[in-house]
Amino acid sequence: RVDIETNPYKAQFPLLAGKPQIAFLDSAATAQRPACVLAAQKEFYETMNANPLRGLYSLSVEATEAIAKVRAQIAGLIGAGDPREVVFTRNTSESLNIVAKAFAPTVLEAGDEVAITVMEHHSNLIPWQQACREAGATLVYLYPTKTGQLTDEEIAAKIGPKTKIVAATQVSNVLGVENPIAKLAQAAHANGAYMVVDGAQSVPHMAVDVAQLGADFFAFSSHKALGPMGVGVLWGKMELLERSRPFLTGGEMIDSVTEQDAVWAPVPEKFEAGTQDAAGIYATGVALDYLVNQVGYEAIQAREAALVHYAMAQMSQLPYVDIIGSIYWDRHHGVISFNVRGIHPHDVASIMDMQGVCIRAGHHCAQPLLTWLGVENLACCRMSLAFYNDKHDVDAFLEALDAVWRTFNG
Ligand code: PMP
Repeated sequence: RVDIETNPYKAQFPLLAGKPQIAFLDSAATAQRPACVLAAQKEFYETMNANPLRGLYSLSVEATEAIAKVRAQIAGLIGAGDPREVVFTRNTSESLNIVAKAFAPTVLEAGDEVAITVMEHHSNLIPWQQACREAGATLVYLYPTKTGQLTDEEIAAKIGPKTKIVAATQVSNVLGVENPIAKLAQAAHANGAYMVVDGAQSVPHMAVDVAQLGADFFAFSSHKALGPMGVGVLWGKMELLERSRPFLTGGEMIDSVTEQDAVWAPVPEKFEAGTQDAAGIYATGVALDYLVNQVGYEAIQAREAALVHYAMAQMSQLPYVDIIGSIYWDRHHGVISFNVRGIHPHDVASIMDMQGVCIRAGHHCAQPLLTWLGVENLACCRMSLAFYNDKHDVDAFLEALDAVWRTFNG
Protein backbone atom coordinates (compact mmCIF):
# COMPACT_ATOMS: atom_id res chain seq x y z
CA ARG A 1 0.00 0.00 0.00
CA VAL A 2 1.08 3.54 -0.74
CA ASP A 3 1.67 6.01 2.03
CA ILE A 4 -0.08 9.13 0.74
CA GLU A 5 0.61 11.09 3.95
CA THR A 6 4.20 11.57 2.85
CA ASN A 7 5.65 12.04 -0.59
CA PRO A 8 9.28 11.38 -1.47
CA TYR A 9 8.99 13.27 -4.77
CA LYS A 10 7.49 16.62 -3.77
CA ALA A 11 10.80 18.02 -2.48
CA GLN A 12 12.34 17.42 -5.92
CA PHE A 13 9.98 20.00 -7.45
CA PRO A 14 11.28 23.52 -6.68
CA LEU A 15 7.92 25.23 -7.20
CA LEU A 16 6.13 22.83 -4.86
CA ALA A 17 8.92 22.96 -2.29
CA GLY A 18 9.03 26.77 -2.49
CA LYS A 19 5.28 27.24 -2.16
CA PRO A 20 4.14 24.79 0.52
CA GLN A 21 1.00 26.90 0.99
CA ILE A 22 -0.45 25.82 -2.36
CA ALA A 23 -2.11 22.57 -3.37
CA PHE A 24 -1.36 22.20 -7.08
CA LEU A 25 -4.20 20.18 -8.59
CA ASP A 26 -3.99 21.22 -12.22
CA SER A 27 -1.39 18.84 -13.62
CA ALA A 28 -3.63 17.80 -16.52
CA ALA A 29 -3.16 21.35 -17.84
CA THR A 30 0.58 21.35 -17.27
CA ALA A 31 2.81 19.44 -14.87
CA GLN A 32 5.33 20.89 -12.46
CA ARG A 33 9.00 20.24 -13.30
CA PRO A 34 11.55 18.53 -11.11
CA ALA A 35 14.87 20.29 -10.44
CA CYS A 36 16.75 17.98 -12.82
CA VAL A 37 14.63 19.22 -15.76
CA LEU A 38 15.20 22.87 -14.89
CA ALA A 39 18.92 22.14 -14.52
CA ALA A 40 19.02 20.38 -17.89
CA GLN A 41 17.54 23.39 -19.66
CA LYS A 42 20.25 25.58 -18.11
CA GLU A 43 22.95 23.02 -18.78
CA PHE A 44 22.13 23.00 -22.48
CA TYR A 45 22.60 26.76 -22.78
CA GLU A 46 25.69 26.76 -20.58
CA THR A 47 27.53 23.85 -22.13
CA MET A 48 26.24 22.88 -25.58
CA ASN A 49 24.35 25.83 -27.02
CA ALA A 50 24.69 26.07 -30.78
CA ASN A 51 22.17 25.79 -33.57
CA PRO A 52 21.82 22.08 -34.20
CA LEU A 53 22.17 20.84 -37.80
CA ARG A 54 23.63 24.07 -39.13
CA GLY A 55 27.22 23.78 -37.94
CA LEU A 56 30.15 21.53 -38.68
CA TYR A 57 32.00 22.59 -35.54
CA SER A 58 31.94 20.30 -32.55
CA LEU A 59 29.64 22.38 -30.33
CA SER A 60 26.91 22.27 -32.96
CA VAL A 61 27.53 18.58 -33.51
CA GLU A 62 27.09 18.06 -29.77
CA ALA A 63 23.74 19.87 -29.82
CA THR A 64 22.69 17.79 -32.83
CA GLU A 65 23.69 14.58 -31.10
CA ALA A 66 21.82 15.57 -27.94
CA ILE A 67 18.62 15.86 -29.97
CA ALA A 68 19.28 12.57 -31.78
CA LYS A 69 19.70 10.87 -28.42
CA VAL A 70 16.34 12.11 -27.16
CA ARG A 71 14.70 11.04 -30.43
CA ALA A 72 16.01 7.50 -29.90
CA GLN A 73 15.01 7.61 -26.22
CA ILE A 74 11.41 8.53 -27.12
CA ALA A 75 11.27 5.85 -29.83
CA GLY A 76 12.31 3.31 -27.19
CA LEU A 77 9.83 4.69 -24.67
CA ILE A 78 6.77 4.37 -26.93
CA GLY A 79 7.85 1.19 -28.70
CA ALA A 80 8.60 2.78 -32.07
CA GLY A 81 10.91 0.70 -34.21
CA ASP A 82 12.76 3.57 -35.86
CA PRO A 83 13.83 6.84 -34.16
CA ARG A 84 13.33 8.63 -37.49
CA GLU A 85 9.60 8.11 -36.98
CA VAL A 86 9.74 10.54 -34.03
CA VAL A 87 9.09 14.14 -35.12
CA PHE A 88 9.64 17.05 -32.74
CA THR A 89 6.88 19.65 -32.77
CA ARG A 90 5.77 22.41 -30.39
CA ASN A 91 2.97 20.50 -28.66
CA THR A 92 0.20 17.91 -29.10
CA SER A 93 -1.90 20.45 -30.98
CA GLU A 94 0.79 20.93 -33.62
CA SER A 95 1.40 17.17 -33.85
CA LEU A 96 -2.29 16.50 -34.51
CA ASN A 97 -2.45 19.37 -37.00
CA ILE A 98 0.38 17.75 -38.95
CA VAL A 99 -1.64 14.54 -39.22
CA ALA A 100 -4.85 16.36 -40.21
CA LYS A 101 -3.25 18.82 -42.61
CA ALA A 102 -0.27 16.94 -44.04
CA PHE A 103 -1.38 13.30 -43.97
CA ALA A 104 -5.20 13.31 -44.11
CA PRO A 105 -5.46 15.04 -47.53
CA THR A 106 -3.45 12.15 -49.02
CA VAL A 107 -6.17 9.64 -48.06
CA LEU A 108 -9.43 11.58 -47.61
CA GLU A 109 -11.89 11.93 -50.49
CA ALA A 110 -15.41 13.31 -50.79
CA GLY A 111 -17.89 10.94 -49.15
CA ASP A 112 -15.31 9.42 -46.78
CA GLU A 113 -15.69 9.53 -43.02
CA VAL A 114 -13.42 10.50 -40.15
CA ALA A 115 -14.52 9.02 -36.81
CA ILE A 116 -13.64 10.70 -33.51
CA THR A 117 -15.09 10.49 -30.01
CA VAL A 118 -17.21 13.27 -28.54
CA MET A 119 -14.74 13.49 -25.65
CA GLU A 120 -11.88 14.80 -27.81
CA HIS A 121 -9.96 17.87 -26.75
CA HIS A 122 -10.47 20.65 -29.32
CA SER A 123 -6.90 19.88 -30.50
CA ASN A 124 -8.10 16.52 -31.80
CA LEU A 125 -11.40 17.87 -33.06
CA ILE A 126 -11.02 21.18 -34.89
CA PRO A 127 -8.25 19.85 -37.20
CA TRP A 128 -10.66 17.04 -38.22
CA GLN A 129 -13.53 19.47 -38.79
CA GLN A 130 -11.23 21.36 -41.13
CA ALA A 131 -9.84 18.27 -42.87
CA CYS A 132 -13.37 16.95 -43.48
CA ARG A 133 -14.62 20.30 -44.74
CA GLU A 134 -11.73 20.57 -47.19
CA ALA A 135 -12.09 17.00 -48.49
CA GLY A 136 -15.91 16.92 -48.54
CA ALA A 137 -15.76 14.13 -45.95
CA THR A 138 -18.07 13.66 -42.96
CA LEU A 139 -17.01 13.90 -39.32
CA VAL A 140 -18.70 11.08 -37.40
CA TYR A 141 -18.83 10.97 -33.57
CA LEU A 142 -18.56 8.02 -31.23
CA TYR A 143 -20.53 8.64 -28.04
CA PRO A 144 -19.58 6.94 -24.78
CA THR A 145 -22.10 5.97 -22.13
CA LYS A 146 -22.84 8.83 -19.73
CA THR A 147 -20.15 7.42 -17.47
CA GLY A 148 -17.58 7.56 -20.25
CA GLN A 149 -17.40 4.01 -21.64
CA LEU A 150 -17.10 3.45 -25.40
CA THR A 151 -19.02 0.24 -26.04
CA ASP A 152 -18.28 -2.41 -28.68
CA GLU A 153 -21.70 -1.65 -30.22
CA GLU A 154 -20.83 2.04 -30.62
CA ILE A 155 -17.49 1.16 -32.19
CA ALA A 156 -19.15 -1.27 -34.62
CA ALA A 157 -21.88 1.25 -35.45
CA LYS A 158 -19.58 4.18 -36.21
CA ILE A 159 -16.48 2.63 -37.81
CA GLY A 160 -17.20 1.06 -41.19
CA PRO A 161 -16.21 0.84 -44.84
CA LYS A 162 -16.50 4.62 -45.35
CA THR A 163 -14.15 5.36 -42.43
CA LYS A 164 -10.69 6.49 -43.51
CA ILE A 165 -9.34 7.83 -40.22
CA VAL A 166 -10.20 7.16 -36.57
CA ALA A 167 -8.82 9.67 -34.06
CA ALA A 168 -9.21 9.31 -30.31
CA THR A 169 -7.67 10.39 -27.08
CA GLN A 170 -6.16 7.61 -25.01
CA VAL A 171 -7.18 9.29 -21.76
CA SER A 172 -9.88 11.99 -21.56
CA ASN A 173 -8.78 15.29 -20.06
CA VAL A 174 -12.28 15.77 -18.61
CA LEU A 175 -13.51 12.31 -17.63
CA GLY A 176 -10.09 10.82 -16.84
CA VAL A 177 -11.26 7.62 -18.50
CA GLU A 178 -8.95 5.44 -20.59
CA ASN A 179 -10.39 4.63 -23.99
CA PRO A 180 -10.18 1.18 -25.64
CA ILE A 181 -7.65 2.34 -28.25
CA ALA A 182 -6.64 -1.18 -29.33
CA LYS A 183 -10.29 -2.00 -30.11
CA LEU A 184 -10.74 1.24 -32.02
CA ALA A 185 -7.55 0.54 -33.97
CA GLN A 186 -8.71 -2.99 -34.76
CA ALA A 187 -12.01 -1.68 -36.11
CA ALA A 188 -10.15 1.02 -38.07
CA HIS A 189 -7.69 -1.41 -39.62
CA ALA A 190 -10.40 -3.97 -40.44
CA ASN A 191 -11.93 -1.22 -42.58
CA GLY A 192 -8.65 -0.04 -44.10
CA ALA A 193 -8.63 3.12 -41.97
CA TYR A 194 -5.78 4.72 -39.98
CA MET A 195 -5.65 5.16 -36.19
CA VAL A 196 -4.55 8.47 -34.71
CA VAL A 197 -4.00 8.57 -30.94
CA ASP A 198 -3.86 11.67 -28.73
CA GLY A 199 -1.53 10.68 -25.91
CA ALA A 200 -1.38 14.07 -24.15
CA GLN A 201 -3.06 12.66 -21.02
CA SER A 202 -1.71 9.12 -21.15
CA VAL A 203 2.08 9.52 -21.35
CA PRO A 204 2.21 11.28 -17.94
CA HIS A 205 0.38 8.35 -16.30
CA MET A 206 0.97 5.06 -18.11
CA ALA A 207 3.39 3.08 -20.24
CA VAL A 208 2.59 3.44 -23.92
CA ASP A 209 3.41 1.01 -26.72
CA VAL A 210 2.29 2.27 -30.10
CA ALA A 211 2.43 -1.24 -31.60
CA GLN A 212 0.24 -2.71 -28.84
CA LEU A 213 -2.19 0.15 -29.22
CA GLY A 214 -2.33 -0.39 -32.97
CA ALA A 215 -1.63 3.30 -33.56
CA ASP A 216 -0.57 4.71 -36.91
CA PHE A 217 0.10 8.14 -35.37
CA PHE A 218 0.65 9.09 -31.73
CA ALA A 219 0.97 12.61 -30.29
CA PHE A 220 1.95 14.01 -26.91
CA SER A 221 3.32 17.12 -25.19
CA SER A 222 6.46 17.33 -23.10
CA HIS A 223 4.98 19.92 -20.72
CA LYS A 224 2.36 17.52 -19.34
CA ALA A 225 5.04 14.89 -18.74
CA LEU A 226 7.38 17.02 -16.54
CA GLY A 227 9.24 18.54 -19.50
CA PRO A 228 9.38 22.14 -20.69
CA MET A 229 6.60 23.97 -22.53
CA GLY A 230 7.12 24.26 -26.26
CA VAL A 231 8.13 20.71 -27.14
CA GLY A 232 5.75 18.15 -28.60
CA VAL A 233 6.14 14.77 -30.22
CA LEU A 234 4.50 13.19 -33.22
CA TRP A 235 5.22 9.55 -33.90
CA GLY A 236 3.99 8.11 -37.18
CA LYS A 237 4.65 5.00 -39.24
CA MET A 238 7.47 5.70 -41.65
CA GLU A 239 5.53 5.04 -44.84
CA LEU A 240 2.73 7.36 -43.69
CA LEU A 241 5.14 10.15 -42.73
CA GLU A 242 6.88 9.70 -46.08
CA ARG A 243 3.58 9.95 -47.88
CA SER A 244 2.56 13.10 -45.97
CA ARG A 245 3.09 16.55 -47.38
CA PRO A 246 5.36 18.96 -45.55
CA PHE A 247 3.56 21.01 -42.90
CA LEU A 248 5.77 24.04 -42.41
CA THR A 249 8.35 24.83 -45.07
CA GLY A 250 11.66 26.68 -44.94
CA GLY A 251 15.11 26.02 -43.56
CA GLU A 252 16.21 22.62 -42.22
CA MET A 253 13.42 20.71 -43.99
CA ILE A 254 14.95 20.61 -47.48
CA ASP A 255 17.62 18.64 -49.26
CA SER A 256 18.17 21.05 -52.14
CA VAL A 257 16.56 24.21 -53.46
CA THR A 258 16.47 25.80 -56.92
CA GLU A 259 14.81 29.09 -57.83
CA GLN A 260 11.49 27.41 -58.58
CA ASP A 261 11.59 24.14 -56.70
CA ALA A 262 12.83 22.22 -53.69
CA VAL A 263 13.50 18.64 -52.69
CA TRP A 264 12.32 17.78 -49.18
CA ALA A 265 14.69 16.40 -46.58
CA PRO A 266 13.91 12.88 -45.42
CA VAL A 267 11.62 12.18 -42.44
CA PRO A 268 11.76 13.49 -39.70
CA GLU A 269 13.55 16.67 -40.86
CA LYS A 270 10.84 17.14 -43.51
CA PHE A 271 8.50 18.14 -40.64
CA GLU A 272 11.00 20.12 -38.59
CA ALA A 273 11.34 23.45 -40.41
CA GLY A 274 13.36 26.16 -38.70
CA THR A 275 15.35 26.17 -35.50
CA GLN A 276 13.98 23.86 -32.88
CA ASP A 277 13.82 24.27 -29.13
CA ALA A 278 16.98 22.24 -28.68
CA ALA A 279 17.29 23.01 -24.96
CA GLY A 280 13.65 22.02 -24.51
CA ILE A 281 14.19 18.76 -26.36
CA TYR A 282 17.30 18.04 -24.29
CA ALA A 283 15.35 18.73 -21.08
CA THR A 284 12.48 16.58 -22.39
CA GLY A 285 14.90 13.67 -22.46
CA VAL A 286 15.79 14.30 -18.82
CA ALA A 287 12.09 14.69 -17.89
CA LEU A 288 11.08 11.40 -19.49
CA ASP A 289 14.03 9.62 -17.93
CA TYR A 290 13.00 10.94 -14.51
CA LEU A 291 9.35 9.99 -15.11
CA VAL A 292 9.94 6.51 -16.43
CA ASN A 293 13.21 5.38 -14.88
CA GLN A 294 13.56 7.31 -11.64
CA VAL A 295 9.95 7.38 -10.49
CA GLY A 296 8.52 4.71 -12.79
CA TYR A 297 5.00 4.15 -14.04
CA GLU A 298 4.33 1.50 -11.38
CA ALA A 299 4.95 3.96 -8.55
CA ILE A 300 3.16 6.74 -10.44
CA GLN A 301 0.04 4.65 -10.91
CA ALA A 302 0.02 3.29 -7.38
CA ARG A 303 0.32 6.79 -5.89
CA GLU A 304 -2.17 8.45 -8.23
CA ALA A 305 -4.68 5.64 -7.77
CA ALA A 306 -4.45 5.92 -3.99
CA LEU A 307 -4.95 9.69 -4.14
CA VAL A 308 -7.86 9.48 -6.60
CA HIS A 309 -9.44 6.75 -4.48
CA TYR A 310 -9.19 8.90 -1.36
CA ALA A 311 -10.50 12.04 -3.10
CA MET A 312 -13.42 10.25 -4.78
CA ALA A 313 -14.41 8.47 -1.58
CA GLN A 314 -14.64 11.81 0.24
CA MET A 315 -16.28 13.70 -2.63
CA SER A 316 -18.96 11.10 -3.18
CA GLN A 317 -20.14 11.66 0.42
CA LEU A 318 -20.81 15.34 -0.24
CA PRO A 319 -24.44 15.71 -1.34
CA TYR A 320 -23.70 19.00 -3.11
CA VAL A 321 -20.97 17.60 -5.39
CA ASP A 322 -21.81 16.07 -8.77
CA ILE A 323 -18.98 14.02 -10.24
CA ILE A 324 -18.83 14.09 -14.02
CA GLY A 325 -18.27 10.74 -15.68
CA SER A 326 -17.73 7.48 -13.87
CA ILE A 327 -18.46 7.15 -10.18
CA TYR A 328 -15.76 4.45 -10.03
CA TRP A 329 -12.44 5.84 -8.84
CA ASP A 330 -10.40 3.32 -10.87
CA ARG A 331 -11.72 4.79 -14.12
CA HIS A 332 -10.18 8.18 -13.35
CA HIS A 333 -6.58 8.47 -14.43
CA GLY A 334 -5.57 11.41 -12.28
CA VAL A 335 -8.55 13.54 -13.34
CA ILE A 336 -11.78 14.26 -11.44
CA SER A 337 -14.25 16.71 -12.97
CA PHE A 338 -17.21 17.86 -10.93
CA ASN A 339 -19.66 20.62 -10.23
CA VAL A 340 -20.86 22.08 -6.96
CA ARG A 341 -24.64 22.29 -7.09
CA GLY A 342 -25.91 25.78 -7.86
CA ILE A 343 -22.45 27.40 -7.84
CA HIS A 344 -20.72 28.49 -11.03
CA PRO A 345 -17.41 26.65 -11.59
CA HIS A 346 -15.56 29.97 -11.92
CA ASP A 347 -16.73 30.92 -8.43
CA VAL A 348 -15.67 27.53 -7.11
CA ALA A 349 -12.18 27.91 -8.58
CA SER A 350 -11.81 31.52 -7.36
CA ILE A 351 -12.80 30.68 -3.80
CA MET A 352 -10.50 27.67 -3.82
CA ASP A 353 -7.68 29.89 -5.05
CA MET A 354 -8.09 32.04 -1.94
CA GLN A 355 -7.28 28.90 0.04
CA GLY A 356 -4.23 28.16 -2.13
CA VAL A 357 -5.93 25.34 -4.02
CA CYS A 358 -5.24 25.37 -7.76
CA ILE A 359 -7.96 23.73 -9.83
CA ARG A 360 -9.28 24.53 -13.30
CA ALA A 361 -12.78 25.67 -14.22
CA GLY A 362 -14.30 26.09 -17.65
CA HIS A 363 -14.98 24.00 -20.72
CA HIS A 364 -11.54 22.32 -20.69
CA CYS A 365 -11.34 22.60 -24.49
CA ALA A 366 -14.04 19.95 -24.74
CA GLN A 367 -17.23 21.88 -25.49
CA PRO A 368 -18.90 19.13 -27.56
CA LEU A 369 -18.45 16.70 -24.64
CA LEU A 370 -19.94 19.09 -22.07
CA THR A 371 -22.78 19.92 -24.48
CA TRP A 372 -23.49 16.23 -25.02
CA LEU A 373 -23.37 15.50 -21.27
CA GLY A 374 -25.76 18.40 -20.70
CA VAL A 375 -23.42 20.09 -18.22
CA GLU A 376 -24.93 23.38 -17.09
CA ASN A 377 -23.20 26.57 -18.36
CA LEU A 378 -20.95 24.30 -20.49
CA ALA A 379 -18.47 24.47 -17.65
CA CYS A 380 -17.20 22.34 -14.84
CA CYS A 381 -14.41 22.18 -12.27
CA ARG A 382 -11.50 19.82 -12.69
CA MET A 383 -8.97 18.72 -10.13
CA SER A 384 -6.12 16.71 -11.57
CA LEU A 385 -3.44 14.84 -9.70
CA ALA A 386 0.10 13.72 -10.28
CA PHE A 387 2.41 11.43 -8.34
CA TYR A 388 4.00 14.47 -6.64
CA ASN A 389 0.73 15.26 -4.85
CA ASP A 390 -0.05 13.90 -1.41
CA LYS A 391 -2.93 13.60 1.05
CA HIS A 392 -2.34 17.15 2.31
CA ASP A 393 -3.16 18.48 -1.17
CA VAL A 394 -6.38 16.47 -1.33
CA ASP A 395 -7.31 17.50 2.22
CA ALA A 396 -6.73 21.17 1.36
CA PHE A 397 -8.98 20.65 -1.67
CA LEU A 398 -11.72 19.02 0.42
CA GLU A 399 -11.56 21.82 3.00
CA ALA A 400 -11.77 24.39 0.23
CA LEU A 401 -14.75 22.56 -1.24
CA ASP A 402 -16.47 22.82 2.11
CA ALA A 403 -15.60 26.53 2.27
CA VAL A 404 -17.10 27.06 -1.20
CA TRP A 405 -20.35 25.44 -0.12
CA ARG A 406 -20.52 27.40 3.13
CA THR A 407 -19.78 30.68 1.34
CA PHE A 408 -22.96 30.30 -0.67
CA ASN A 409 -25.05 28.28 1.77
CA GLY A 410 -23.78 29.43 5.15
N1 PMP B 1 -5.25 16.62 -26.02
C1 PMP B 1 -5.57 16.46 -24.73
C2 PMP B 1 -6.34 15.25 -24.30
C3 PMP B 1 -5.20 17.44 -23.81
O1 PMP B 1 -5.53 17.30 -22.52
C4 PMP B 1 -4.48 18.58 -24.25
C5 PMP B 1 -4.05 19.67 -23.29
N2 PMP B 1 -5.03 20.07 -22.39
C6 PMP B 1 -4.16 18.66 -25.60
C7 PMP B 1 -4.55 17.67 -26.45
C8 PMP B 1 -3.41 19.84 -26.15
O2 PMP B 1 -2.11 19.85 -25.69
P1 PMP B 1 -1.20 21.11 -26.00
O3 PMP B 1 -1.88 22.29 -25.39
O4 PMP B 1 0.09 20.80 -25.33
O5 PMP B 1 -1.10 21.22 -27.48
